[in-house]
Amino acid sequence: MKQALKVYNSLIREKVPFEPIKEGEVGMYVCGPTVYSDVHLGNCRTFVSFDVIYRYLKYIGYNVRYVRNITDVGHLLDDGEDRMLKGTKREKLTPMEVAQKYTNGFHDMMRTFNSLPPSIEPRATGHIIEQIEMVQSILDNGYGYVVNGSVYFDTLKFAEEKKVYGKLSGRVIEDLLTETRDNLKNQSEKRHPSDFALWMKASPEHIMRWNSPWSVGFPGWHLECSAMSTKYLGQTFDIHGGGNDLKFPHHENEVAQSVGACNCQPANYWLHTNMLLMNGRKMSKSDGNTISPPQLFSGDSPHVTKGYSPMAIRFFMLQSHYRSTLDLTDEALQAAEKGYRRLMEADRTLQAMSGLENATAGTQDKEINELIDQAFEEMNDDFNTPKALARLFELVTRVNGLKDGHLAMEEVTASTFDRLKSTFSNFITEILGLKDEMQAADNGTNLVDGLMEIIIDMRKDVRANKDWAASDKIRDALTALEIQLKDGKEGTSWVKA
Ligand code: AMP
Ligand code: ZN
Repeated sequence: MKQALKVYNSLIREKVPFEPIKEGEVGMYVCGPTVYSDVHLGNCRTFVSFDVIYRYLKYIGYNVRYVRNITDVGHLLDDGEDRMLKGTKREKLTPMEVAQKYTNGFHDMMRTFNSLPPSIEPRATGHIIEQIEMVQSILDNGYGYVVNGSVYFDTLKFAEEKKVYGKLSGRVIEDLLTETRDNLKNQSEKRHPSDFALWMKASPEHIMRWNSPWSVGFPGWHLECSAMSTKYLGQTFDIHGGGNDLKFPHHENEVAQSVGACNCQPANYWLHTNMLLMNGRKMSKSDGNTISPPQLFSGDSPHVTKGYSPMAIRFFMLQSHYRSTLDLTDEALQAAEKGYRRLMEADRTLQAMSGLENATAGTQDKEINELIDQAFEEMNDDFNTPKALARLFELVTRVNGLKDGHLAMEEVTASTFDRLKSTFSNFITEILGLKDEMQAADNGTNLVDGLMEIIIDMRKDVRANKDWAASDKIRDALTALEIQLKDGKEGTSWVKA
């Protein structure tokens, strides 16, 4: 199956066979969140899309190193203010507290949507040295210049010499010269409006600051991803992903930085997810066209008539291809909820059934096997989840037929039945990452297990922060419920007395 995988590479705007640099291994970097406020549903859509891509690559046998960063410095707003500092002012916390708070919130949300954690999750503030080294290489190669302690990337010189600037985003340098997006405050220092900051000298009130050869300052936003992807995946790696709103300037500038620093393309394949809309319009806080994940779970919003479970929402996201826009509407969510339940119910039915050892007719075998193969073919076709789901639903019809007797069990041989049983379940849980919420709620055990996992995780965090009071409080509260925690080499487990 590995050989058959095709991906749409945004760099060349074509669907092409996927060939990793090293046989059997994939290095994938995805731009993570800027942790200055709660993660929104649009972010969740992008990360769920890459979760499925990660899961599928692993499922078909690749050893994947998935790196997803945390942006905790340097991502400026259009008015030049650092997003993190905006968060610190709003919440009267230090930058690291803001970063921790929203990183925790992000992780909780990813767990809620049943997304796997990445292999490595580096933070921009933990990689200042690597970023400074990269700026130095760019300067050494003549593609950067220093003005008043800040360092800028010389886009015009780079574009003239390397002929790659604008390739990813499909822009031409002449147009870019009239665009002025990066850091409006220091426009006058740049040689050309399209130049972007590699290193910024910090103003006296700017509290996030580090020493560098050029000034006490902070790195430009685009730099962290170039420096951290190089550190953990090498100068050129397989897949770079993110939302398509990041193509320009972020990803274009990442390409420029890598080519400028080491004359190498950062990634062979660029994968971009499309945007989440609501009622046909871009989700936007400013005009009220927005809904937060908790509001969507509880139904506490004028945009929905009821609450939807995280798995129904995940299913809803999978019903569209990652490169298409996804329009969130109440009707579409209701339909997704029904679809999700139907799929899980069919799986439960299937798992409770057993095939007939002596069934030899096998008149359904060909079709069932073809549908399973087709579901994988759809995934191999640039991770086409909606079409793969359509195949699974054709199988649901067969499963329901077997259940209510429309199809005789004799029509499916034991080996096909076994394949159907295992593949169907694997597809849903391992590839699509859907959990059976009904089952968890039915017997209660999974729910308690899940809750205990969250509590143990939270206790680990507070202990890491040496917050012994909070740690004791958690332990005492659990003791009152006769739940005992056991710390061991393998981590913490729990028992009910
Ligand atoms: P940010 O925290 O703004 O850096 O965004 C984190 C990720 O979410 C990036 O890959 C963005 O491209 C993606 N993203 C932001 N808004 C949306 C949206 N409305 N729909 C889908 N993805 C989005
Ligand atoms: Zn990035």
